[in-house]
Amino acid sequence: MASRAVVIGPAAYADDSGIQSHASIAQSARMYGEVLAGDAMWGADNCRVLGADEVQTADGVMRALKKAADETEPEDIFLVVYVGHGQYWSDLPGAQVHFSVSSSRENNPWTWLSSWYVYRVMRQARAKLKVLIADCCYSNLLPQLGEEPVLPGVLGDLDEGTCVFTAVKNSANASAEGCSALPGDLAGCTPFSGHLLRILQEGTKDHEDQLTIGLLREAVKREMESCAGARHQVPRMSLNDARDGTRLFTNQMAANRRDSAPYLPVAPEDWARTLMLDRDSGLDDLLKDERKTGDVVAILSSRTDDASRHLARRIDAEANNRFSEPHAFARYWNQVEKALRV
Ligand SMILES: [Zn+2]
Repeated sequence: MASRAVVIGPAAYADDSGIQSHASIAQSARMYGEVLAGDAMWGADNCRVLGADEVQTADGVMRALKKAADETEPEDIFLVVYVGHGQYWSDLPGAQVHFSVSSSRENNPWTWLSSWYVYRVMRQARAKLKVLIADCCYSNLLPQLGEEPVLPGVLGDLDEGTCVFTAVKNSANASAEGCSALPGDLAGCTPFSGHLLRILQEGTKDHEDQLTIGLLREAVKREMESCAGARHQVPRMSLNDARDGTRLFTNQMAANRRDSAPYLPVAPEDWARTLMLDRDSGLDDLLKDERKTGDVVAILSSRTDDASRHLARRIDAEANNRFSEPHAFARYWNQVEKALRV
């Protein structure tokens, strides 16, 4: 596996640049490196926090990104984390968010890194899933590349899966002041990164062993909305065409402190209803019972709407794969046939 994570956190700017230096940016970047190195799904060899020399220029950042992108393979994840200043000049052709690098100067767009270049390198990576976590001002405008308000698949073909998770939902300003409600080193991070990092460090009470994009999004949102330390901006997940079920990080919460597994349906009718709501939830559990799987496929196939029939075909394809042993397949198929004959 050659999943790659690159963390970009330019914290220091020239005194006369007009851009504020923030210790919280450096702290956040350092902590992302630490947390990813300690996550069994990533590890120190698969993640890099760019050094002060690299984040000095756009060229330094892009060289490092390109190198990491080129190392990814089709089964991998390419994760880019940016913590810093964001800017948006609407008078530039094809206006787009610009990221600061340490040599950037206020109101000199050409000294900033255009998000277009970052997207371009991500798009070219072979990784099956590309994720950009952006903790900066104007990050809510990130999907607006070019004239289109939203450009689906901007990081690659739609079926590859792409996701942009941003610090701000609909306001220009992301806060750089640390959140006092966060413990230890996290209090010195920016609020969005501090809260997100705490979830990566401590895990969530969700039953799952790994955090999916969906679980992570919900956990960060929940934490920030109810934070006692400050009224935070609520982050948003934009441009999410990645499947919510893609596993991204290890859930570090001890298994005995997590919620028990969600209640699984019993009757075939209940299974059909549950799978229609969330087709990936519990399908593995259903497939442990060949007869019940047959009943559910029969129910769904006998309905007239497209969604039910589509789901039936999907489960049937999965069952054909799974029940390769002839008796197991017979148990499944008998139920399907019997129900369809009635
Ligand atoms: Zn907070």
